[in-house]
Amino acid sequence: MRVESSEQRVLKSYALDFRLCALPRFYFHMETYDVIIIGAGSIGLPTSFFLAKEKLKVLVIDELPSAGQGQNKSAIGGVRATHSDPAKIQTCQLSLRVFSQWKEEYGDDLHFQMGGYCFPAYTETQEKSFKELLITQKKYGLNIDWLEAEEVRKLLPGINPHELRGGTYSPEDGNLSPILTAKAFFDHAKRLGVTFKFNEKIVGIENGEGQGARVKTEKGSYLGGAVINAAGTKASEVGKLMGAELPVLPDSHEGGVTEPVMPFLEPLVVDTREVPGSKNIYFYQEKDGHIVFCLTPEPIIPGFDRDSTSGFLPQIARRMINLFPKFRNIKVRRVWRGLYPMTPDGVPIVDKIKGTNGFYVAVGFCGQGFMLGPGIALNLVSLITKGRPLLPENIFRGFSLYRDYTLTSETLK
Ligand SMILES: Cc1cc2nc3c(=O)[nH]c(=O)nc-3n(C[C@H](O)[C@H](O)[C@H](O)COP(=O)(O)OP(=O)(O)OC[C@H]3O[C@@H](n4cnc5c(N)ncnc54)[C@H](O)[C@@H]3O)c2cc1C
Repeated sequence: MRVESSEQRVLKSYALDFRLCALPRFYFHMETYDVIIIGAGSIGLPTSFFLAKEKLKVLVIDELPSAGQGQNKSAIGGVRATHSDPAKIQTCQLSLRVFSQWKEEYGDDLHFQMGGYCFPAYTETQEKSFKELLITQKKYGLNIDWLEAEEVRKLLPGINPHELRGGTYSPEDGNLSPILTAKAFFDHAKRLGVTFKFNEKIVGIENGEGQGARVKTEKGSYLGGAVINAAGTKASEVGKLMGAELPVLPDSHEGGVTEPVMPFLEPLVVDTREVPGSKNIYFYQEKDGHIVFCLTPEPIIPGFDRDSTSGFLPQIARRMINLFPKFRNIKVRRVWRGLYPMTPDGVPIVDKIKGTNGFYVAVGFCGQGFMLGPGIALNLVSLITKGRPLLPENIFRGFSLYRDYTLTSETLK
């Protein structure tokens, strides 16, 4: 039998107190939850699952018709812990543990492959900056090393050897399907009793006098002991309803997928050479043999535009064929365009809003929300049930809403 912690009992009693004592009479018939999550995406879905595992009563509301229909399904599925920001490193280490053990623990095949990440270097500047970054990454115990050109050629058969200097390789990073992952979190969360309401847009959030809040949608009102804003690209709009200014703005990114080919590529490859019109490209071969690829435009394209462009394929095809000449024989099946929910410094915001009883934000995940999802979820569970994150507080502070956004910069996926 599972024994509840005292924090969990206290948390549950908040919702109960709120329902029975602090509320006007008309609130009595309202649906009441321990936690209400706004957004069934890369962050909201794992958070609902891990909160439900702690026996909390959870409601997830999304304006779209089903789970993972926001930016989660735009992600190509790269997951790595090898960042430069300590909070991201440690959060993604938690995520990788969840992703890599999921099949064994819960049974679903998420197409996880521990193929690693490789950043090939063709210029002296790239080599220098990758080697400098290795020092921080090793400090945090990450399994990443510099490979000489010959070793990179063995790792990436068919890579263009001209002026190749070497590259970094992190074998414990990987990839998996964001769509299968969203479905798995959704199915398991539902099984644990999480309520999902789709096609409902949040239009108002009121801070209760006691603990918690009333969340209003176009269709109804719900009471929550805690409310989490996990609204992705609409985070700042929802933030205003919570009384907080959130510096999250979307920008457009395109991706695509080829026909399947025989397996030949294990790591996810990131080519960071700046070429006019693009900052970098990244791609990998997923479990069924398709190559999934993406490009970071330079300059960025701010806004909500999700229409595919005629420029994307010629632009990325030229770069991919230059890097792997044999790509010239592969046909592209489909392209799409999605959005990164960006912050000024490229680091997410995960915090409790000051002056509120239970308003949390988990937003601004840029190009890394899928890989950060489960790790952020575990930290949110700890924040809500224990009042402190799972990561050491000095590290987790890197995600603070109240930080100086001019200090760090890490926007690369
Ligand atoms: C082309 C591309 C490739 C990418 N590749 C990767 C990758 O390889 N690895 C990686 O980690 N990340 C990748 N990303 C980034 C990743 O997709 C995002 O960072 C992540 O999905 C953001 O998660 P989220 O939960 O914040 O937002 P979402 O997944 O978009 O979820 C937010 C949800 O909130 C809902 N919502 C918003 N406002 C309201 C409202 N008012 N009422 C009700 N519901 C609301 C939305 O409908 C949505 O479903 C990629 C992105 C793109 C565009």
